[in-house]
Amino acid sequence: MDYYQTLGLSKSASADEIKKAYRKLAMKYHPDRNKGDKKAEEKFKEVNEAYETLKDPQKKAAYDRYGHDAYKNAASGGGFNPGAGGGFSGFSNGFGFDFGGDASGFSDIFEDFFGGAMGGGARTGRAEMRGNDLRYDATITLEEAFHGKDIELHMRTNVMCEDCKGTGSEGGVKPKTCPSCKGTGRMRFAQGFFSVEKTCTSCNGTGHIIENSCKKCRGAGRVSKTRDIKVSIPAGIENGARIRLSGEGEAGIRGGRAGDLYIFVAVKSHKLFSREKSSIHCEVPVSIVTAALGGEIEVPTIDGKKAVVKVPAGTQSGQILKLRGKGMTVVRSSIRGDMFVHVNVETPVNLTDHQKELLREFDKDHKAHPKSEGFFAKVKEFWQEL
Ligand SMILES: [Zn+2]
Ligand SMILES: [Zn+2]
Repeated sequence: MDYYQTLGLSKSASADEIKKAYRKLAMKYHPDRNKGDKKAEEKFKEVNEAYETLKDPQKKAAYDRYGHDAYKNAASGGGFNPGAGGGFSGFSNGFGFDFGGDASGFSDIFEDFFGGAMGGGARTGRAEMRGNDLRYDATITLEEAFHGKDIELHMRTNVMCEDCKGTGSEGGVKPKTCPSCKGTGRMRFAQGFFSVEKTCTSCNGTGHIIENSCKKCRGAGRVSKTRDIKVSIPAGIENGARIRLSGEGEAGIRGGRAGDLYIFVAVKSHKLFSREKSSIHCEVPVSIVTAALGGEIEVPTIDGKKAVVKVPAGTQSGQILKLRGKGMTVVRSSIRGDMFVHVNVETPVNLTDHQKELLREFDKDHKAHPKSEGFFAKVKEFWQEL
C-alpha cells in the first residue's frame, strides 16, 4: 500500500491536488452513500488514513523520507512498546491535551457538505466514549538523539476500573442494551439526500443502560491512577518528531477505546555540532601552518569518539572536509549520515619577534597567495576602467 496510490496521485502531487483527490474519493466511498458495502467502507478508511498523513506537511515529509512501512510502524508506535516499571517524577501538567480525534481531516472538509451535522458519524465506534489523547514533551540532547533513549514517564491519568472491568456496572454485571438506539448509541434522522446521526439521548451514546452503577468509579468504568510508562525514543529521532503510542492514552468511558499517548520530541542544540537531517556539521579551527603545509587534525564525532581528518596542503578557510559515515544515525536504519568538517583557518596572534621576522621573510614571495594575486589584478582593472 502507498498513500499516494490510495489517492490516485503521483508523489509530486501538490497540496491542492491532494485535497481535491481526497474530496472526490471520500464522497465516492462515504458510508452514507454505500450502505452496508464493506469494500467501500474499507476504501473510505484507507482514503482518510492517506489524507491524514499527506495533508500535514510534517507527516508528509516523514512519509516521503522513510517510505510507507517505516512510517507506518513509527506512526502506529510499533516497536516502541512501553513496559511496566520505573520510578520517576511527574509531569501531569503536560497532559490532557486533546488532539480532537482521528477524524480531524475529515471534519475540515465535510462540515461544508453536511452542515456540521455529521457529529462523528463517519468515525467507527462511539467517539464520545473514547479516552482522551495525552501529550508528553520530551527534551533530549543531540547525543541522546544519536544513541536513542529510554525515558520513563510517571503520569496521572484515567485507567480502567478493575471492580467493574470497565463496564461501569456494579460487580461487572452486563449492562442492558439501550432500547431507544438498540445499543448503537446513535439515532439516525433523514435529512435530504443524506441521513444524519446524532448521539442517543437515552443512554448518552453508550448504547447501554446501567441499573446499578459501580461504586468505585461511579459508573464511569474508569478511575484516576498514576501510571508508569517506559518509552523508547529511537536513535536518529529528529527535532519536532512525534511518537504515537496507540492506546496508551486515557482509558475510555465504560469500556470505550483508550486514547493515544503522543511523545513530542525536542532535540537541544549542541555546543560543538549542528545537525541537518542525517548530517553533522562541525567548525574546526586549523592553524595556518597545517592549512598551508597539509597535515592531520583530530576532530570529535557525535558518537563520543574522535576521528582523524587529513587536511590537504593549501586548504582554505571555509573549505569542507567530508567524513563518510560519521554523521547521525537514521531512525529504523543501520545507515549513518556523514560528518562535515568546516575548516576555519586561524590567524596566529601574540607572535614573538622571531616569528614576525619569519613571516616578513615569507611574505616577500607573493606567489604563495594566488587568490590575492587574482583579486588585486581585478582591482587594478576596475580602477583603470573608471
Ligand atoms: Zn467500576
Ligand atoms: Zn441509546
